[in-house]
Amino acid sequence: MKIKRGIEFKEGSFLENVNCYLQEAILKTNLDSRFPKQNIGERIMIPDRSVENKISLKMDDGSTRLLVGSRVQHNNNLGPYKGGIRFDVDADLQHTQALASNMTWKCALSEIPFGGAKGGLVVDPRILSESELERVSKGYIRAFADILGPDKDIPAPDMGTNAQVMAWMRSRYEDIYHGVISPGIVTGKPVGFGGSHGRTQATGFGVVFCAEELLGNLKNKTIVIQGFGNVGSHAALLAHRKGAKVISLIDPYLFGGGGALFNSKGLDVERIFKNPRDFQGNMAAEDAICIKCDILMPCAKESEINAGNMKKIQAKVIIEGANGPLTPPAHNYLLEKKVIIAPDIMANAGGVIVSYFEWLQNKQGEYWDESAIISRLERKMKRITKKTFLYAKKNEDMRLTAYSIAINAVAQAKNVIGAQ
Ligand code: GLU
Repeated sequence: MKIKRGIEFKEGSFLENVNCYLQEAILKTNLDSRFPKQNIGERIMIPDRSVENKISLKMDDGSTRLLVGSRVQHNNNLGPYKGGIRFDVDADLQHTQALASNMTWKCALSEIPFGGAKGGLVVDPRILSESELERVSKGYIRAFADILGPDKDIPAPDMGTNAQVMAWMRSRYEDIYHGVISPGIVTGKPVGFGGSHGRTQATGFGVVFCAEELLGNLKNKTIVIQGFGNVGSHAALLAHRKGAKVISLIDPYLFGGGGALFNSKGLDVERIFKNPRDFQGNMAAEDAICIKCDILMPCAKESEINAGNMKKIQAKVIIEGANGPLTPPAHNYLLEKKVIIAPDIMANAGGVIVSYFEWLQNKQGEYWDESAIISRLERKMKRITKKTFLYAKKNEDMRLTAYSIAINAVAQAKNVIGAQ
């Protein structure tokens, strides 16, 4: 099957890749002819605001390191800006712009009243001590406090940050604003400090709910998961508990050896989840991603499946737990091979969906129990998956469909139409 594309699908930077998918959807939704002279296509592609700040970090040995942090506020047509903060060596401004744009589309597709944003700090958090991490987290919030706020722009965890980092950030923000209690300034906080049950598991569990909606019962389905961080580990656990056979887990940082664990009969995910560092890789990471399986869940980083390895991928279904794991040529090639691809802005929306539940609980001052949250998450994930799948019947491209639904919602919001 050959797919006719509206624009050329070539391998680019992460931002170019996101914009490539977006541009095709802008063309498909006929925005420019539906809203003449408003230049909506360009207006929804370019972020509202991109800020970079220098952040100095006092190291434990007394020396000072200068780091660059950024916050990109992409679009707030549907509500306050929302999106995580990534601490990673690659988290520069361009990267953060790509991720912020995807947050806009993720929130719109999920029908939650948020816009899209993202933060980045160019640093390897693994080399920082606990106290250095605390100082840099507080330094980040100090640098960006004036553009953030519980009804303005609400950060959350992403790669390299976690609930503890969110707790430091909330505390620092409240200090800056003279002790005004502001739990809703960040989501993904620890339970007991304004956090929500189920937030840590949310993205990984959401990936599994999405898979269930597309494939039905997961019992005995073979699954390969790339990345055993917060997303991949929780996806593996829930899939395993539902009777799926997780045959490979890939994470060179954790497992050593070749970087991947493999067992054709299914891995003991419960044990691996408890002590991942006790397990030694018995397969090369680049081979494991190509194993024949029912479902491949890339839950690591962007562009992991690209023109270089796309021809070796043997999965029938790909559920994107990570943001941007497939480059445009890989996406196109695999769709032509009839692989079902659940796009990131749909498949990994579970995190921001439970962030929304957390923000609501903070506003109400009333907290919900874990089972209520997980069942609301399940309903929402299955609804957005079903909606996208049904609309995609004609073009069989769920990514193009997901972007198109989201773009329509954002473009139709009142402050675009008629705004000058
Ligand atoms: N960092 C997560 C994402 O990429 C969650 C963002 C949030 O909860 O605001 O979707």
